[in-house]
Amino acid sequence: MKTPFITKEKAEEIIKEYPTPFHIYDEAGIRWNARELYKAFSWNKGYREFFAVKATPNPYILNILKEEGCGVDCSSLTELMMSECCGFSGSDIMFSSNVTPEEDMKKAYDLGAFINLDDITHIEFLENLCGLPETVFCRFNPGGHFELENKIMDDPGDAKYGLTREQMFEAFKRLKAKGVKHFGIHAFLASNTVTNKYYPKLASILFELAVELKKETGADIKYINLSGGIGISYLPDVPQNDIAVIGEGVHKAFDEILVPNGMGDVALFTELGRYMLAPYGHLVTKCIHQKHIYKEYIGCDACACNLMRPAMYGSYHHITVLGKENAPCDHKYDVTGGLCENNDKFAIDRMLPEIEIGDILVIHDTGAHGFAMGYNYNGKLRSAELLLKEDGSVQLIRRAETPSDYFRTFDFTGILDKYIE
Ligand SMILES: *Cc1c(COP(=O)(O)O)cnc(C)c1O
Repeated sequence: MKTPFITKEKAEEIIKEYPTPFHIYDEAGIRWNARELYKAFSWNKGYREFFAVKATPNPYILNILKEEGCGVDCSSLTELMMSECCGFSGSDIMFSSNVTPEEDMKKAYDLGAFINLDDITHIEFLENLCGLPETVFCRFNPGGHFELENKIMDDPGDAKYGLTREQMFEAFKRLKAKGVKHFGIHAFLASNTVTNKYYPKLASILFELAVELKKETGADIKYINLSGGIGISYLPDVPQNDIAVIGEGVHKAFDEILVPNGMGDVALFTELGRYMLAPYGHLVTKCIHQKHIYKEYIGCDACACNLMRPAMYGSYHHITVLGKENAPCDHKYDVTGGLCENNDKFAIDRMLPEIEIGDILVIHDTGAHGFAMGYNYNGKLRSAELLLKEDGSVQLIRRAETPSDYFRTFDFTGILDKYIE
């Protein structure tokens, strides 16, 4: 069962001020979840979550997570700029980027961020651009398949990220020779995992590598970053990950591999995005049309520009029709947006209660990689983002785009002056 964090009455009250479509986030849920995560890793001295900004790049969300003790994980110049303006600096920032432009790398260096190199050639790239900081991370790609209990979870061998095993050893030797004092290791091997075993397995791979790297290169490995990849169940009937069990699984690997090798003081980092935010966001949209042709269609005022995952990945997102939570799901619908693209469907052949024009639909689990992946195709405008605060009030944390915003980048031509405020 997935229950929305707003009722029909609350949604109607909000819509009076902020018309649909909009994304809304649940502050209480975000804070509760962040605290559970910290509890699960409290056994590790120095543990810290660096929220993956790309999942939900909004300063108000970053500030909530900052209050819960999180740092940020950035991958671009503008993410670094936003984090800087929210008061993150130095060791509050992980910079895990790839195909990194000079400007971005310089900004990360100037902010004193932990820099995570994605390639062995980035040693000289960084050195020539800025010099080498005291601490450097390297991103590891073990190649091949990543398997969990004989099931292939992902294919690092096909992924563009990271250094090979041999390159990790070479990089640590080179960095050490160039005066780098402390080291970190990072890897991201599978995305949106719904199993309590992903992190423990990844951790043992990285812990074993750390032991070997230390033995062979003498590097002082202070940090191991397990990155993102803990998923959420988007389906209503698949159980969620249990973060306490995940934390204990990593703890066991830590005690078995690092502690006996005198590496019990390594600090663990995570860079979770989806796990931190996805369940605590809804896309709220209204049914504005219906049509009955070869199939039954529900037309919404939101479209794939507001939530790309179903169109791009065929992802399931649960839908609740507000006020009809207990009505029988006896109608089969395609729930669509208005793009001139037939993949603009939030749901295909979904069994839902009978929907009428004007009904409010909650699309669940849109708090991460939702608004963030938005775009402007068909001249569609980005929606507002709202925050449902702990006291029940609602705050606008990003206004909706206007036509004027959309035309703004033409404002040197004069052609669209009529519509640019
Ligand atoms: C996307 C990303 C994350 C966050 O991934 P989630 O699946 O949202 O947890 C973390 N680190 C890096 C380097 C990423 O690219």
